[in-house]
Amino acid sequence: MNNNDSTILRCEKLSKSYKDGKIDVQVFDEVNLSVQSSERIAIVGPSGAGKSTLLHLLGGLDQPTTGKVWIDGVDINAQSERNKSQLRNRSLGFVYQFHHLLPEFNALENVAMPLLIGNTPPKLAAEKARHMLDQVGLSHRTLHRLGELSGGERQRVAIARALVNNPLCVLADEPTGNLDNHTAGQVMELLFDLNDRLKTSVVIVTHDLSLAAQMDRTLTMINARLQQN
Ligand code: ADP
Repeated sequence: MNNNDSTILRCEKLSKSYKDGKIDVQVFDEVNLSVQSSERIAIVGPSGAGKSTLLHLLGGLDQPTTGKVWIDGVDINAQSERNKSQLRNRSLGFVYQFHHLLPEFNALENVAMPLLIGNTPPKLAAEKARHMLDQVGLSHRTLHRLGELSGGERQRVAIARALVNNPLCVLADEPTGNLDNHTAGQVMELLFDLNDRLKTSVVIVTHDLSLAAQMDRTLTMINARLQQN
Protein backbone atom coordinates (compact mmCIF):
# COMPACT_ATOMS: atom_id res chain seq x y z
CA MET A 1 0.00 0.00 0.00
CA ASN A 2 2.91 2.37 0.59
CA ASN A 3 4.53 1.60 -2.73
CA ASN A 4 4.57 4.88 -4.65
CA ASP A 5 4.28 3.02 -7.97
CA SER A 6 0.75 2.01 -7.09
CA THR A 7 -0.37 5.58 -6.34
CA ILE A 8 -3.16 6.40 -8.79
CA LEU A 9 -4.24 9.77 -7.50
CA ARG A 10 -2.54 12.17 -5.13
CA CYS A 11 -2.95 15.69 -3.87
CA GLU A 12 -0.59 17.73 -1.77
CA LYS A 13 -1.33 20.84 0.26
CA LEU A 14 -4.50 21.36 -1.70
CA SER A 15 -6.43 24.49 -0.74
CA LYS A 16 -9.55 26.05 -2.19
CA SER A 17 -11.15 29.38 -1.42
CA TYR A 18 -13.81 31.50 -3.08
CA LYS A 19 -14.24 35.23 -3.14
CA ASP A 20 -17.47 36.39 -1.54
CA GLY A 21 -17.42 40.09 -2.32
CA LYS A 22 -14.10 41.19 -0.88
CA ILE A 23 -13.87 38.31 1.55
CA ASP A 24 -11.98 35.07 0.83
CA VAL A 25 -14.03 32.10 1.99
CA GLN A 26 -11.79 29.11 2.66
CA VAL A 27 -13.48 25.83 1.72
CA PHE A 28 -10.53 23.68 2.82
CA ASP A 29 -6.87 24.08 3.52
CA GLU A 30 -3.74 21.99 2.89
CA VAL A 31 -5.47 18.71 2.14
CA ASN A 32 -3.17 15.74 1.47
CA LEU A 33 -4.48 12.49 0.04
CA SER A 34 -2.93 9.53 -1.69
CA VAL A 35 -5.11 6.91 -3.39
CA GLN A 36 -3.50 3.55 -4.11
CA SER A 37 -4.41 1.08 -6.82
CA SER A 38 -7.50 -0.94 -5.79
CA GLU A 39 -8.07 1.17 -2.69
CA ARG A 40 -11.63 2.06 -1.62
CA ILE A 41 -11.97 5.40 0.15
CA ALA A 42 -15.06 7.11 1.58
CA ILE A 43 -15.17 10.84 2.22
CA VAL A 44 -17.84 11.86 4.72
CA GLY A 45 -18.64 15.07 6.57
CA PRO A 46 -21.32 17.71 7.04
CA SER A 47 -23.08 19.32 4.11
CA GLY A 48 -21.12 22.31 2.80
CA ALA A 49 -17.81 21.03 4.23
CA GLY A 50 -16.20 20.89 0.78
CA LYS A 51 -16.44 17.21 -0.17
CA SER A 52 -17.79 17.79 -3.68
CA THR A 53 -15.29 20.58 -4.25
CA LEU A 54 -12.46 18.21 -3.30
CA LEU A 55 -13.76 15.54 -5.67
CA HIS A 56 -13.89 18.07 -8.51
CA LEU A 57 -10.31 19.11 -7.82
CA LEU A 58 -9.13 15.48 -7.64
CA GLY A 59 -10.72 14.92 -11.05
CA GLY A 60 -9.01 17.96 -12.56
CA LEU A 61 -12.40 19.61 -13.17
CA ASP A 62 -11.59 22.71 -11.14
CA GLN A 63 -8.42 24.63 -10.26
CA PRO A 64 -7.12 24.68 -6.69
CA THR A 65 -6.23 28.00 -5.07
CA THR A 66 -2.90 26.43 -4.08
CA GLY A 67 -1.49 22.91 -4.06
CA LYS A 68 -1.18 20.16 -6.65
CA VAL A 69 -3.04 17.12 -7.96
CA TRP A 70 -1.35 14.22 -9.73
CA ILE A 71 -3.44 11.79 -11.76
CA ASP A 72 -1.46 8.66 -12.64
CA GLY A 73 1.71 10.61 -11.81
CA VAL A 74 0.89 13.62 -14.00
CA ASP A 75 0.45 17.12 -12.51
CA ILE A 76 -3.02 17.72 -13.95
CA ASN A 77 -3.09 21.49 -13.56
CA ALA A 78 0.19 21.90 -15.44
CA GLN A 79 -1.41 20.36 -18.56
CA SER A 80 -3.14 21.95 -21.52
CA GLU A 81 -6.94 21.55 -21.60
CA ARG A 82 -6.54 18.94 -24.33
CA ASN A 83 -4.05 16.87 -22.30
CA LYS A 84 -6.21 17.23 -19.21
CA SER A 85 -9.23 15.84 -21.06
CA GLN A 86 -7.21 12.93 -22.43
CA LEU A 87 -5.82 12.10 -19.01
CA ARG A 88 -9.27 12.25 -17.41
CA ASN A 89 -10.76 10.15 -20.19
CA ARG A 90 -8.04 7.50 -19.88
CA SER A 91 -7.70 7.34 -16.11
CA LEU A 92 -10.89 8.37 -14.36
CA GLY A 93 -14.59 7.56 -14.24
CA PHE A 94 -16.93 10.20 -12.85
CA VAL A 95 -20.26 9.74 -11.14
CA TYR A 96 -21.37 13.19 -10.03
CA GLN A 97 -24.69 14.32 -8.63
CA PHE A 98 -25.62 16.42 -11.61
CA HIS A 99 -24.05 13.82 -13.71
CA HIS A 100 -23.68 15.64 -17.01
CA LEU A 101 -25.48 13.02 -19.01
CA LEU A 102 -26.70 14.13 -22.42
CA PRO A 103 -30.53 14.17 -22.33
CA GLU A 104 -31.01 14.21 -26.09
CA PHE A 105 -28.98 11.00 -26.52
CA ASN A 106 -30.09 7.50 -25.60
CA ALA A 107 -28.62 5.39 -22.79
CA LEU A 108 -26.36 3.43 -25.13
CA GLU A 109 -24.94 6.59 -26.72
CA ASN A 110 -24.34 8.17 -23.31
CA VAL A 111 -22.43 5.14 -22.04
CA ALA A 112 -20.45 4.78 -25.28
CA MET A 113 -19.42 8.47 -25.20
CA PRO A 114 -16.15 8.11 -23.19
CA LEU A 115 -15.06 5.28 -25.50
CA LEU A 116 -15.84 7.28 -28.65
CA ILE A 117 -13.95 10.27 -27.25
CA GLY A 118 -11.03 7.89 -26.64
CA ASN A 119 -11.21 6.77 -30.31
CA THR A 120 -12.61 3.27 -29.75
CA PRO A 121 -14.23 2.12 -33.03
CA PRO A 122 -18.02 2.80 -32.87
CA LYS A 123 -19.07 -0.86 -33.20
CA LEU A 124 -16.83 -1.98 -30.33
CA ALA A 125 -17.89 1.05 -28.25
CA ALA A 126 -21.56 0.12 -28.70
CA GLU A 127 -20.83 -3.49 -27.77
CA LYS A 128 -19.01 -2.51 -24.57
CA ALA A 129 -21.69 0.05 -23.69
CA ARG A 130 -24.43 -2.57 -24.15
CA HIS A 131 -22.53 -5.01 -21.91
CA MET A 132 -22.12 -2.36 -19.20
CA LEU A 133 -25.81 -1.36 -19.38
CA ASP A 134 -26.63 -5.03 -18.99
CA GLN A 135 -24.48 -5.16 -15.84
CA VAL A 136 -26.37 -2.26 -14.25
CA GLY A 137 -29.69 -3.92 -15.13
CA LEU A 138 -30.68 -1.59 -17.97
CA SER A 139 -30.48 -3.83 -21.03
CA HIS A 140 -34.20 -3.11 -21.63
CA ARG A 141 -33.57 0.64 -21.74
CA THR A 142 -30.59 0.95 -24.12
CA LEU A 143 -32.45 2.91 -26.79
CA HIS A 144 -34.43 5.16 -24.44
CA ARG A 145 -33.42 8.77 -24.36
CA LEU A 146 -32.23 9.99 -20.97
CA GLY A 147 -35.27 12.26 -20.66
CA GLU A 148 -37.46 9.12 -20.73
CA LEU A 149 -35.69 7.46 -17.79
CA SER A 150 -36.32 7.76 -14.04
CA GLY A 151 -33.78 9.41 -11.72
CA GLY A 152 -32.55 6.02 -10.51
CA GLU A 153 -32.21 4.72 -14.06
CA ARG A 154 -30.25 7.83 -15.06
CA GLN A 155 -27.94 7.28 -12.10
CA ARG A 156 -27.31 3.71 -13.28
CA VAL A 157 -26.51 5.04 -16.76
CA ALA A 158 -24.02 7.42 -15.08
CA ILE A 159 -22.39 4.49 -13.26
CA ALA A 160 -22.22 2.44 -16.46
CA ARG A 161 -20.61 5.39 -18.26
CA ALA A 162 -18.05 5.83 -15.45
CA LEU A 163 -17.04 2.17 -15.60
CA VAL A 164 -17.10 1.49 -19.35
CA ASN A 165 -13.53 2.66 -19.90
CA ASN A 166 -12.05 0.46 -17.13
CA PRO A 167 -10.63 3.54 -15.40
CA LEU A 168 -7.82 3.48 -12.83
CA CYS A 169 -10.08 5.28 -10.38
CA VAL A 170 -13.78 6.06 -10.07
CA LEU A 171 -14.72 9.34 -8.37
CA ALA A 172 -18.31 9.19 -7.18
CA ASP A 173 -20.35 11.89 -5.45
CA GLU A 174 -23.29 10.27 -3.62
CA PRO A 175 -23.52 7.51 -6.27
CA THR A 176 -26.46 5.86 -4.54
CA GLY A 177 -28.15 9.06 -3.36
CA ASN A 178 -31.15 8.77 -5.72
CA LEU A 179 -31.54 5.01 -5.58
CA ASP A 180 -33.75 2.67 -3.59
CA ASN A 181 -31.93 0.27 -1.25
CA HIS A 182 -32.08 -2.67 -3.63
CA THR A 183 -30.74 -0.76 -6.64
CA ALA A 184 -28.15 1.00 -4.47
CA GLY A 185 -26.90 -2.40 -3.30
CA GLN A 186 -26.65 -3.64 -6.90
CA VAL A 187 -24.79 -0.54 -8.03
CA MET A 188 -22.26 -0.77 -5.21
CA GLU A 189 -21.79 -4.50 -5.84
CA LEU A 190 -20.94 -3.64 -9.42
CA LEU A 191 -18.45 -0.99 -8.35
CA PHE A 192 -16.83 -3.32 -5.84
CA ASP A 193 -16.71 -6.17 -8.37
CA LEU A 194 -14.79 -3.95 -10.77
CA ASN A 195 -12.61 -2.82 -7.89
CA ASP A 196 -11.78 -6.50 -7.13
CA ARG A 197 -11.24 -7.68 -10.68
CA LEU A 198 -9.50 -4.71 -12.26
CA LYS A 199 -7.94 -3.03 -9.22
CA THR A 200 -9.97 0.09 -9.96
CA SER A 201 -9.69 2.51 -7.05
CA VAL A 202 -12.92 3.99 -5.74
CA VAL A 203 -13.29 7.35 -4.00
CA ILE A 204 -16.84 7.98 -2.82
CA VAL A 205 -18.42 11.00 -1.19
CA THR A 206 -21.34 9.71 0.83
CA HIS A 207 -23.68 10.38 3.73
CA ASP A 208 -24.38 6.66 3.98
CA LEU A 209 -22.30 5.39 6.89
CA SER A 210 -23.07 1.74 6.14
CA LEU A 211 -21.64 2.29 2.66
CA ALA A 212 -18.60 4.07 4.16
CA ALA A 213 -18.08 1.06 6.44
CA GLN A 214 -17.52 -1.13 3.36
CA MET A 215 -14.51 0.93 2.26
CA ASP A 216 -10.83 0.48 3.21
CA ARG A 217 -10.61 3.97 4.71
CA THR A 218 -13.03 6.70 5.69
CA LEU A 219 -11.89 10.32 5.76
CA THR A 220 -13.90 13.18 7.22
CA MET A 221 -13.95 16.66 5.74
CA ILE A 222 -14.55 18.99 8.65
CA ASN A 223 -13.37 22.43 9.72
CA ALA A 224 -11.57 22.90 6.39
CA ARG A 225 -9.42 19.79 6.97
CA LEU A 226 -9.51 16.22 5.74
CA GLN A 227 -9.17 14.01 8.80
CA GLN A 228 -8.33 10.33 8.95
CA ASN A 229 -10.96 8.54 11.08
P1 ADP B 1 -20.21 19.40 0.32
O1 ADP B 1 -19.98 18.59 -0.89
O2 ADP B 1 -19.37 18.93 1.49
O3 ADP B 1 -21.65 19.52 0.71
P2 ADP B 1 -19.36 21.59 -1.37
O4 ADP B 1 -18.01 21.17 -1.82
O5 ADP B 1 -20.50 21.44 -2.30
O6 ADP B 1 -19.71 20.88 0.04
O7 ADP B 1 -19.31 23.14 -0.94
C1 ADP B 1 -18.36 23.63 0.01
C2 ADP B 1 -18.52 25.11 0.17
O8 ADP B 1 -18.01 25.79 -0.98
C3 ADP B 1 -19.96 25.57 0.35
O9 ADP B 1 -19.99 26.58 1.32
C4 ADP B 1 -20.31 26.10 -1.02
O10 ADP B 1 -21.30 27.09 -0.92
C5 ADP B 1 -18.99 26.67 -1.48
N1 ADP B 1 -18.89 26.69 -2.94
C6 ADP B 1 -18.89 25.61 -3.77
N2 ADP B 1 -18.76 25.99 -5.06
C7 ADP B 1 -18.70 27.36 -5.05
C8 ADP B 1 -18.54 28.37 -6.04
N3 ADP B 1 -18.44 28.04 -7.34
N4 ADP B 1 -18.49 29.65 -5.64
C9 ADP B 1 -18.58 29.98 -4.34
N5 ADP B 1 -18.71 29.08 -3.35
C10 ADP B 1 -18.76 27.79 -3.69
